[in-house]
Amino acid sequence: MSDADPADASPATDRDYAEWLDAFADGGGFALVCPDGHGSLPPRRVCAECGSTDLSREPLDEMGTVETYSVVHVPSPRFADDAPYATAVVDFGPTRLTGIVRDGGADGDAPAVEIGDAVAVDVGERVTDGERLVVFRPAGES
Ligand SMILES: [Zn+2]
Repeated sequence: MSDADPADASPATDRDYAEWLDAFADGGGFALVCPDGHGSLPPRRVCAECGSTDLSREPLDEMGTVETYSVVHVPSPRFADDAPYATAVVDFGPTRLTGIVRDGGADGDAPAVEIGDAVAVDVGERVTDGERLVVFRPAGES
């Protein structure tokens, strides 16, 4: 998975992704699913697996399962004030989401997640510059 720099994105791509984040923030998160059941996420318009352009919006569960994660202690400049944090790939059934994990605490410890943990997905803001991004919270925490 590429770590696309938003500066490289076209305005249309930014709008699609912003709309997707808006939907999530309103509790209406969705994935784009092709007729073969492959899941994608905006701003993608073509199925990454089979090339289908017949993508329909399917509701995305608010809970997913951590597939892999890594704790970042030395972040890129865009995340300078967010460290330490963990990035995680979370399985949401038809698709996966990549985001950062927060435990809601401000004690400077990296969030504790393990592969297989259930996490809730939310839309948060990057501490460093206020950009919106996908945030995972360990299940059971408010
Ligand atoms: Zn497909």
